[in-house]
Amino acid sequence: MDTGILIVGAGHAGGSAAALLRQNGYEGAITLVGEEPLPPYQRPPLSKGWLKGELTADDLLLRPAAFYTDKAIALRTATRVQSIAPAGRQATLDTGETLTYEHLILATGSRLRRLAAPGADLPGVLELRSAADAERIRAALRPGARLAVVGGGYIGLEVAASARALGAEVTVFEREARLLARVASPELSEHFAALHRGNGVQLELGADLAAFEPRDGHVGAVVLRDSRRFDCDVAVVGIGALANDGLAAEAGIACQDGILVDEFARTSHEGVYAIGDCTRRPVPRYGRMLRLESVPNALEQAKQAAAHLCNKPAPRAEAPWFWSDQYDCRLQIVGMAFDVARTVVRGDLSAGKFAVFHLDADDRVQAIEAVNAPQEFVAGKQLVGAAAVLDPERIADPAVTMKELAAIPGRAQ
Ligand code: FAD
Repeated sequence: MDTGILIVGAGHAGGSAAALLRQNGYEGAITLVGEEPLPPYQRPPLSKGWLKGELTADDLLLRPAAFYTDKAIALRTATRVQSIAPAGRQATLDTGETLTYEHLILATGSRLRRLAAPGADLPGVLELRSAADAERIRAALRPGARLAVVGGGYIGLEVAASARALGAEVTVFEREARLLARVASPELSEHFAALHRGNGVQLELGADLAAFEPRDGHVGAVVLRDSRRFDCDVAVVGIGALANDGLAAEAGIACQDGILVDEFARTSHEGVYAIGDCTRRPVPRYGRMLRLESVPNALEQAKQAAAHLCNKPAPRAEAPWFWSDQYDCRLQIVGMAFDVARTVVRGDLSAGKFAVFHLDADDRVQAIEAVNAPQEFVAGKQLVGAAAVLDPERIADPAVTMKELAAIPGRAQ
């Protein structure tokens, strides 16, 4: 065998799994193969602090490059795994080499959904997934540059906020009638719409993009289906991501819009694990299989795989959580708004400090969206995880502290 454990994809999940395997006492050979030139790094700052120039390239790294040598992790950057043959425990690299392994962890992440519009391949139409993408965007965002952001999801809105900080003129084009339509409550959408407008961003909602128009061989305008035309100097498209499950699917591993895994991150093929954005995984709190794209998810599944491979107890299941930073606003979300019968707002919407509690028909708290409300988020993690039953009137009552709210025992599920 060339290696004990082969990890394909040196991103947040893959890099974390390699470190956790050593932390759990794994002594065999670990090989971590990633197609990007950098050691594992964090993507969240790419649309936030890094884009604004507040962080250096080194600040992005999950761990210093020397960590991998110190821990005897063979890190191979700028190398792509072309195919895997799980029956023979082999992987073929783009260098032509074949590696044999005992166990395989797929951590291939996700890729951006492409816009099928005329002109989408013009120079100046950019996307944001990697550090190299972020470099291109930052280089284009001179003060006064006109930026068209296509997609009013988290990444698009974070890019818009960072671009304003850099002095760019920004218009966000969103096809739905509200921002964050698929992922957040109407209260949150309204809050972010007001926040962006207040910071000088032009929002075009219900905007169906027809094409990008060239100017001097470069993107020069966005044209909508209603024929309105908006001049721009650069465009960033952020319309969602797709799981990188091709390697697994081609090898006959069960996939369904994501590599299917169990609570130990095991795929349908013995000895093959999958973690992070590339998976569809069970979320016990909701009894559903979900595809989650977040750092906490990547870490949780890296822990699951590392624990299982080292015969350690599985980590405790977490309720999914996520965050986004825009201007001086920190959004933290815990849980998923499934089977919601009503929402209750706690705090002051107009002051931009509030939390939206999502309750099911039995008043169990399914999810909490906390805007500049860290206490609601922190206590909310326990409440959502425990499916606690909460009294809607007490949630809305500012005289009841989060500690008092959290003291209410959850009804058995
Ligand atoms: P990735 O980090 O994408 O790593 C996968 C790696 O595998 C990539 O480097 C890829 O090139 C490589 N790879 C793929 N196929 C192969 C192959 N065949 N051979 C070799 N290498 C391969 N999450 C949050 O929780 N909060 C945030 O605020 C937040 N902000 C974000 C902002 C941006 C701009 C982006 C892009 C993402 C953000 N996310 C955020 C999401 C978060 O970064 C991802 O969920 C996380 O990176 C997933 O980790 P991963 O290891 O599964 O995938």
